[in-house]
Amino acid sequence: MQINYPIIDLHTHLRNNIPKYTKIAKENGIDTVVYMANTYPPLDNLEKIKKSLKVKRYCKALTVSAITKNLEGKELVEIEKIKPYVVGFSDDGKYLEDLNLLKEILKKDVLVLAHCSPDYKKGLENPELETRYINNYLEAIKKVGGKLHIQHVSKKESVELIRKFKSNGLKITSETCPQYFTFIKEEKDVEVNPPLSNKEDVLAVNEGLADGTIDIIASDYAPKPRKTGIADFESFISHSKRLVKESVLTEIQLKQKLFLNPKKIIISGDLKFF
Ligand SMILES: [Zn+2]
Repeated sequence: MQINYPIIDLHTHLRNNIPKYTKIAKENGIDTVVYMANTYPPLDNLEKIKKSLKVKRYCKALTVSAITKNLEGKELVEIEKIKPYVVGFSDDGKYLEDLNLLKEILKKDVLVLAHCSPDYKKGLENPELETRYINNYLEAIKKVGGKLHIQHVSKKESVELIRKFKSNGLKITSETCPQYFTFIKEEKDVEVNPPLSNKEDVLAVNEGLADGTIDIIASDYAPKPRKTGIADFESFISHSKRLVKESVLTEIQLKQKLFLNPKKIIISGDLKFF
């Protein structure tokens, strides 16, 4: 199967080495990556974001701003100033617990990319928190409106919840990553967040992809401190193609997950300069 469209990976971490990791992305057939704000220091003001956007890159690399200063969950960044330069806002890697802050940013109608998993170690111990956190965010958008993209969905209950809320016509999109439609935890001894789940979850994620509950596939590429072999650019496309081989998706649906839907999500934001 040939892929003759530009692949957009909406969820990556390039740490502090944009040239190195965009080169790997390019070499693996990815045209555009969107990278999260948890660099050192985090991308939480316009100056840092502009500086980051000037760094050499080998494929298109768009950025996301932090929602809160220093990703601490306490004080919003300067959203109006920042929004023309970024795809959206996310404290990715951290769940924003303060739902009043979340509502405040949702009310500004900027794209919020939601990491609804507990912190790394806690996430591995309590994977069921994902669904509770997603529910908190969905209730918030139901009340105040806005645009919400839910990242790396991994649990059956989460897929069901998103399906239910999407039917209310809210502006919600969601994403999963190859590891959550491919591996069950017994098969692969690897630490990722959210952690790998069981067969039922993997099946539900596959179903969510097939019926459009899950809009896109992203890699959540995170070179460090993750162990390798999962969430990487190298296997991202091959795992995704397998969905067509196994008749989970049609070729057209795969194009939606890897190109058309991520593009729509980017366009739905306020990005003007990059
Ligand atoms: Zn991430």
